[in-house]
Amino acid sequence: MNLSERDLLHNWHPYTQHKTAQFHPAIVKGKDALLWDETGKEYIDAIASWWVNPFGHSNPIIADAIYQQLTTLEHVLFGGFTHDKAVYLSEKLMEILPSNQKKVFYSDNGSTAVEVAIKGALQYFYNKGKKKTKIIAFEDAFHGDTFGAMAASGITFYTEAFRGSLLEVVRVPIPTIGYEDKAIAILEQLVLSGEYAAFIFEPLVLGAAGMIMYEPAILDKMIAICNANDVFTIADEVMTGFGKTGKTFATDYLVNKPDIMCLSKALTGGTIPMAITTFTQEVFDGFYDDDVNKALFHGHTFTANPTGCAAALASIGLLQTNDMQANIQRINQLHLAFQLKIKVHPKVKTTRVLGVIFALEVITNGEESYYGTMRNKLYTFFIENGIILRPVGNIVYILPPYVITAKQLEKVYQTIEKAIEIV
Ligand SMILES: *Cc1c(COP(=O)(O)O)cnc(C)c1O
Repeated sequence: MNLSERDLLHNWHPYTQHKTAQFHPAIVKGKDALLWDETGKEYIDAIASWWVNPFGHSNPIIADAIYQQLTTLEHVLFGGFTHDKAVYLSEKLMEILPSNQKKVFYSDNGSTAVEVAIKGALQYFYNKGKKKTKIIAFEDAFHGDTFGAMAASGITFYTEAFRGSLLEVVRVPIPTIGYEDKAIAILEQLVLSGEYAAFIFEPLVLGAAGMIMYEPAILDKMIAICNANDVFTIADEVMTGFGKTGKTFATDYLVNKPDIMCLSKALTGGTIPMAITTFTQEVFDGFYDDDVNKALFHGHTFTANPTGCAAALASIGLLQTNDMQANIQRINQLHLAFQLKIKVHPKVKTTRVLGVIFALEVITNGEESYYGTMRNKLYTFFIENGIILRPVGNIVYILPPYVITAKQLEKVYQTIEKAIEIV
């Protein structure tokens, strides 16, 4: 048996109906934007392995930072102790995050970053004796798969089975062009009730919904409404963080900054699982008290793992190089040129570009479901042609590692052009 066959004996894959699942290639090596499977077949990783890997696979600079750390201090508990890399990383984050962010809370993945953000907002009001127990979120939002994050998520087939067990969350339409006034009106109405602790959103781009985009000006307005009504704003930058939108954070496009931010995915350049929730001084002060019960009783065993922190420091260093910034601009220019060409194609409904993110909607006959026939056809075509893309329904998006070459990106574009002809 080869690895792909042995895999099926014991491994339970994410978001996978094993009865109808397609073949899982076994990847044995990665370098920059390329991956190779056990048969030697080459793939272009055009989605940076679920958006985690901007600097390419097997990056030697991050690998060296991890090796140095593993042979100096691999881990120490963060309860009652600290270490150099957590101090350096928090200091570094203070340089690159919006200046209102002052406190850094470490965890392990995007979902836990969101849990910490939501618990932070809810307990802040609990500590003050105020009854603000509900959350506001966008329709079709994705914030992760743990219970708090699931509650905030609006993609219903992910959460349907758990509906009765979730935190109360009320939805606002995504303020895409034409829906801005409606979104504002609903938000204004909701905040008046005084029952909401926070509004959580994916700033400018809703990733899992299919790279749905909206304008910074409208998010600025929504944040202003929350600020005026004692509702915290939580920017879930798990997908958008670290350069994806063309700026370090999507919130860098805003005038009004969020109270709480969630980071993960590209934080360690796709190496060590790690996440961060950051807070303003105001939120932190809501927990700062002589009463021990007012503390944030949340923690994970691997909180602020030194190896993860070392990988994050190396990754941020890479992001800040002129080369990497030039790569981001280069990909954006190539996307814009491809957009000009493809948007007039008779099978293309709409296209959108922000930073290194490109998305295209294929015209369909009816509703195209998330894991529907068109999606499966497209996915299979891409894999057969050595391109890793995971369409969302009829939406094909690219979010490549920043180190992808022009030639590799050209192959991705050409394969997309061919793919939309066959569906
Ligand atoms: C992926 C994602 C999450 C969840 O992160 P995990 O590491 O998969 O738990 C949360 N929010 C957004 C915006 C994401 O894209």
